[in-house]
Amino acid sequence: MNCIYCNSSSVVKRGTRHNALGVKQRHLCNDCHGSFVEHDGFERMRHREKDIVRALHDYEDGLSMEKVQNHLWQHDGVKVARKTIYEWVKKYSIFLKSGEFERAASPERASARRRKIRKVKKKRLLRS
Ligand SMILES: [Zn+2]
Repeated sequence: MNCIYCNSSSVVKRGTRHNALGVKQRHLCNDCHGSFVEHDGFERMRHREKDIVRALHDYEDGLSMEKVQNHLWQHDGVKVARKTIYEWVKKYSIFLKSGEFERAASPERASARRRKIRKVKKKRLLRS
């Protein structure tokens, strides 16, 4: 198969990853160093997975659609319509819940988030 970003045929298998739908084969492009997974819905996206991941994280963190949009533009130089971000949220919210995006975006951030979630759970426990 070819790279979904640059269409290079120099693609190697690089481990697997898990999501709500099961185990996916991860591929790595030798030319643009992009990594992607077969048949997970991202192939047809015009934007890189990491941009979508960042947008969804920002949105999950409670940022307004406008701020999410600005963030993408200021930090990543990516211009995305608010409507598009809204569609990502709708389409990928199931992955957010499964934690798949946490691992895709950054392992450090995922563990920081897990700590935060544990803290909140503990607080709730203490209150009840
Ligand atoms: Zn590539």
